Amino acid sequence: MSKKVIIVGGGICGLATALSLTKAGFEVVLFEHNDSFREVGAGLTLWSNGIYALKRMALHEPVLEAGQVVQHFEFLNSKGRSLGTVDLKKSESSMGVCHLSIHRMRLMQALESQLESPDSIKFNHEFVSYSQNGSAVHAHFANGHVESGEILLDCEGFHSKARKSILNHDNKKYSGYTCWRGVTRIPSGYTARGDIKHYIGPGAQVGIFDVGFDTVCWYATANVSAGKKDNGEERKHDVLERFADYPEEVTSIFKQTESDDYLRNDIYDRDPVGRWINDRVLLMGDAAHPTTPNLGQGACMALEDAAVITACLKKHSDYRYAFARYSRLRKKRTAQIIMDSRRAGEVGQQESRLVLPVRDLVFEAIVKTGQMRSFDQSVCYKV
Ligand SMILES: Cc1cc2nc3c(=O)[nH]c(=O)nc-3n(C[C@H](O)[C@H](O)[C@H](O)COP(=O)(O)OP(=O)(O)OC[C@H]3O[C@@H](n4cnc5c(N)ncnc54)[C@H](O)[C@@H]3O)c2cc1C
Repeated sequence: MSKKVIIVGGGICGLATALSLTKAGFEVVLFEHNDSFREVGAGLTLWSNGIYALKRMALHEPVLEAGQVVQHFEFLNSKGRSLGTVDLKKSESSMGVCHLSIHRMRLMQALESQLESPDSIKFNHEFVSYSQNGSAVHAHFANGHVESGEILLDCEGFHSKARKSILNHDNKKYSGYTCWRGVTRIPSGYTARGDIKHYIGPGAQVGIFDVGFDTVCWYATANVSAGKKDNGEERKHDVLERFADYPEEVTSIFKQTESDDYLRNDIYDRDPVGRWINDRVLLMGDAAHPTTPNLGQGACMALEDAAVITACLKKHSDYRYAFARYSRLRKKRTAQIIMDSRRAGEVGQQESRLVLPVRDLVFEAIVKTGQMRSFDQSVCYKV
């Protein structure tokens, strides 16, 4: 029987899992449908739990060099009044690692630089289905290739085909808001080096964060119906109009971002599900537990998954025990983050004139007294 591990999807989850399992001595082959590892032109924050997972896999050092250590994390209202600063020292000292903002492309490059055997990566392979029997699992690709192995780790992301075949239903939920993102060079005179500034406004949230290398990333959300098809110029126009009343430090960054660099994603998640396993096939990352980005935890959880599956496969030579242990360790954690993140989005996207003054007061009190339960629980987690 082949002991080979097949990984489908070369995103953050698939690549980190491939690197970690290879380091642990497993035979791994990863299939990605693009012609290279790609990531959208946007940034993300790897909170201490994500960096801790990377460290556990000994993959952290090149990643730390590719990003910007977060120095301050401040909440503001849409007029630019500070609602308080999150105490990052507490989580950093309990986790023993920093929080890091990073351009997605740099993250992928930092991971890719650690590949021991590039031959184990097969680009231009679009996974379509799998079949399995008592001795192997077979992954079928659109180009006719069939790969056989002992197990298949599905890291295809939100639109996972393996997930569809395992669960036989699509419980995706539209959050009610869309998210624009962009990247630009740090404007001259920008003083918020190493900062994350998160503005909460009526029915909208904006984040601006330094990802190092003279680059600043941003996101902006608004309550709209899903499915709008638009181009970069229309997106830029839309964002400049909607957020015209925000402080100049926000609008100047929107203005400076090239229209081609305006991305837009309608935000979906899915209810936590009980089933990630079909015998030799296991769902991981966004394929298993997609969440809204309000807690900035999707990629961090994908890294946690990579570290945990490595530990489980090392501990149990029988994949059935390894998968069962993995599920036990990951179900509650990921379900909690999905639900907390959904709730954070409901609060952040609140637009009722009656509720907003109360929300802002309560929010300010929570940040200022350091009672950030969801934040603390999500970032202070050691896999
Ligand atoms: C607006 C926004 C902001 C976010 N901010 C943060 C943040 O600050 N911090 C954080 O931790 N997370 C954040 N996230 C979440 C994070 O981006 C995702 O959770 C993470 O990328 C999931 O990684 P993944 O590898 O599971 O899936 P993906 O990144 O979706 O990767 C899937 C990979 O599989 C490949 N693939 C798909 N289908 C096939 C197929 N059939 N055959 C072969 N290959 C296939 C794709 O090309 C891709 O390379 C954010 C998300 C959004 C939308």
